[in-house]
Amino acid sequence: MTDLYKLTIGELSGLLSKREIKSVDILNSYVKRIEELDPKISAYLYTDFDEAYKNAEEADKIIASAAATGANAGGGGFPALTGIPLSIKDIFLIRGKKTTCASKILDNFISPYDSTVVKRLKENNYVFLGKVNLDEFAMGSSTENSAYMTTKNPYDLDRVPGGSSGGSAASVAADMCAGSFGTDTGGSVRQPAALCGVVGLKPTYGLISRYGIIAFSSSLDQAGVLAKDVTDAAIMLNAVSGFDEKDQTTRRFNIKDYAGIVKKADKSLIKGLRVGLPSEFFSDGLDPAINAKITEVKNLLKDMGAVITDVSLPNTKYSVAAYYITATSEASSNLERYDGIRYGYRHKDEKGIQSLDDLYRKSRETGFGNEVKRRIILGTFALSAGYYDAYYKKASLVRKLIIKDYKDAFGKADIIIGPTSPTPAFLIGEKTKDPLSMYLSDIYTISVNLAYLPGLSMPVGTVKNPTKEGGVLPVGLQVIAPWAAEDKMLSFAKALEDEVKFRENAGFRKLDVL
Ligand code: GLN
Repeated sequence: MTDLYKLTIGELSGLLSKREIKSVDILNSYVKRIEELDPKISAYLYTDFDEAYKNAEEADKIIASAAATGANAGGGGFPALTGIPLSIKDIFLIRGKKTTCASKILDNFISPYDSTVVKRLKENNYVFLGKVNLDEFAMGSSTENSAYMTTKNPYDLDRVPGGSSGGSAASVAADMCAGSFGTDTGGSVRQPAALCGVVGLKPTYGLISRYGIIAFSSSLDQAGVLAKDVTDAAIMLNAVSGFDEKDQTTRRFNIKDYAGIVKKADKSLIKGLRVGLPSEFFSDGLDPAINAKITEVKNLLKDMGAVITDVSLPNTKYSVAAYYITATSEASSNLERYDGIRYGYRHKDEKGIQSLDDLYRKSRETGFGNEVKRRIILGTFALSAGYYDAYYKKASLVRKLIIKDYKDAFGKADIIIGPTSPTPAFLIGEKTKDPLSMYLSDIYTISVNLAYLPGLSMPVGTVKNPTKEGGVLPVGLQVIAPWAAEDKMLSFAKALEDEVKFRENAGFRKLDVL
């Protein structure tokens, strides 16, 4: 079988457990695919095929010995990610491997330990393909802020894949991995998932450990998954979620078997379900073609028996401001540690370094990119004496109002839907001159992080690509669930996915790169 790269994790692990294929076969298929396509897409900062083959051979041994005892994938014999090749956003530490966070300041930084996510992936016998690109320190919505390269959208190489987990989304969309781990502080998993036509899930704050993930904004950061379909997202979530004593913001959730729940989901659960559409998500900035697609989905849900309900999130208009005060404040503090001494990069000056302060200053001046500097300055200002009450504290109060908005909305609706992004993938360079317009690409995703809630983006169709004859661009639907209700969110998404059939429709895999 040569087209194994096309299959989902669910399909692959089924074949592995029946012993029809080997993990090494899957890996061969992905390696070939990456070598063929990544020179055009630039999703991978680096690949590590030596490690990958080691992992795959190990996984094949584990599967063979489980098969000898008659056990099945995910059924106790071996974990469902055994032998599955994944890409990892270069913000997760992997012991002995380079982690740059797409910043020059971490150039050649070798991780001294494993992040909890990676530790759990290793316990699941996954196959590590390599590290994928992101906006520097996960700050951005297009992956153009990477210090190393710009990742392209596989549906149109002139367009961005979204960000900050753009490398993750592009690698999944172009079938250059079976799934990818990313992070989402204000939309960085869901927005690139939407722009690249894949599923992106950001769980409730505290479901996945942040230990060993380079910190951007600690009260908002969450790891998330980018997957080919909803089932895969559930399988990946199963593997990494749960309390971690190394991250005291993780909680002892009553962890459910998400993959099992998704397996049981069917369209009968839509009947009578109150599906809320917030009027604020359908405002002026929304692209009419996206609006039309979301309306189609709304009608489809109505036909399936859902009770479409109008809800309101009145403080949405303050969410971008509250987010950028909170995130930049926390970032200014988290990024203090990069001083040219403790990590990676140190400035070298022919004229010589004058003092310790001079070394700090020059290392930070030449090590950080413009967007990161902009945020450090904003955050330092917002936290400075005399301004704390006016900015950070105000933003925290707005955050409380946003939490209340969602509580009220979930009094009327079981689940909330809307567009993930106001526009389809935009052109490379289109928004780099105007940071504010870039910030607005997360207008629908940001409030979910502020409210600590779970959110998911799933592809629901495509729109015409206005700059490429015959080309299409994917559209993402955002699904938001109450706190810790990942089970509801996933089963709703699965039931809808079965009807929408994105992977079977004409636009799917109409990739520019092919
Ligand atoms: N685009 C948002 C930002 O630039 C969100 C980034 C993220 O979620 N990491 O801050």
